Amino acid sequence: MIRHDVQLQKLNTFGLPSVAESYLPLTDVSQLRGDAFKSTPALVLGSGSNLLLRDSVPGLTVHVLLGGVEELGPGGADAGAKKVGKGDVLLRVGGGVDWNQLVRYTLDRGLSGMENLVLIPGTVGASPVQNIGAYGAEVANVIAAVHVWEYGHGARTLSPEACDFGYRDSRFKREPGRFLITGVDFRLRKEADSVNTTYGAINTELARLQVEKPTPADVALAVTNIRRSKLPDWFFLGNSGSFFKNPVVELSVLEKIRETHPGAPSYAIDPAHVKLPAGWLIDRSGLKGAREGPVGTYAKQALVMVNHGGATGADILAFSERVQRAVREKFGVGLEREVRLVPEE
Ligand SMILES: Cc1cc2nc3c(=O)[nH]c(=O)nc-3n(C[C@H](O)[C@H](O)[C@H](O)COP(=O)(O)OP(=O)(O)OC[C@H]3O[C@@H](n4cnc5c(N)ncnc54)[C@H](O)[C@@H]3O)c2cc1C
Repeated sequence: MIRHDVQLQKLNTFGLPSVAESYLPLTDVSQLRGDAFKSTPALVLGSGSNLLLRDSVPGLTVHVLLGGVEELGPGGADAGAKKVGKGDVLLRVGGGVDWNQLVRYTLDRGLSGMENLVLIPGTVGASPVQNIGAYGAEVANVIAAVHVWEYGHGARTLSPEACDFGYRDSRFKREPGRFLITGVDFRLRKEADSVNTTYGAINTELARLQVEKPTPADVALAVTNIRRSKLPDWFFLGNSGSFFKNPVVELSVLEKIRETHPGAPSYAIDPAHVKLPAGWLIDRSGLKGAREGPVGTYAKQALVMVNHGGATGADILAFSERVQRAVREKFGVGLEREVRLVPEE
């Protein structure tokens, strides 16, 4: 049932006031066949944890609340999905399921593959959109198939290759409005020893916890501890996690930065390119913990913009542009927003 003039302030983790002109809670895929879906909605909403909402969202907002977690037998994935290998478990999950609850569900069953992505806010349906990632893993590694509603066509199943995943990127992000993700199939491992501890901080935390042979649950605990020490809880301090992407630049840009900042951190991408931590760039531009009225950067992690209370989307946008200018002036590097601005400029 469509409602009008619905306040979205409690439906986004920044806590920004924004009124949806029309709002539809999507609880059943059959609703997609109705008249409301003849044209593309203005916003497909999950948990609102990667959005920068302005005062109003003209048009239709569809809030994805599709539930369900089902274990599929071998060969149960639709055509186009990757094959299920021996020792794999395939889960079909509704687009509205809470991501962290799903990770906990897999850990309770001793499955591995999602443990590094514990505690990321959001829904399952949004997880492929920016190919959520953290601590050396990304969701594309465990996706077997993505079930979508394509406007103008209907239901389809996309293989991982068809999703064209990249760093915090996919075709869903590049083509907003074309697809609504109704569910995702995940391929997980039964072997508890196939954990990924390539990210240095995980090993440090596991050593502190005196764990020698980590299980997926141990890795999840290590990641939970690290995240809790670095990131603000959006329930108490509105935020959307990392506000900008880490910029990928040519090696020559890093070399120039190192003339004045010899210890500048970087991660190799290929022989000619490196990724620079955007939080470090903002910090060294003098803006870590900076505040302008109700908006600021988080004191422990400059990449996180926070709403100290009473901020609007326009306030956050203006402050984020100040941050972009400062980093460009200091290092000659452009920062691209990771969060989606709604409506677009
Ligand atoms: C404290 C905090 C920490 C975070 N840490 C991380 C992190 O470590 N790694 C990371 O990658 N992200 C992180 N994020 C960002 C965020 O959690 C993810 O991007 C998450 O996947 C967003 O899910 P959501 O349901 O809230 O999506 P929303 O914010 O509601 O939407 C985000 C985008 O996805 C689209 N979308 C949502 N659902 C669907 C659907 N079913 N079908 C089609 N499109 C859809 C929306 O239209 C929008 O473009 C963090 C955010 C916060 C607040």
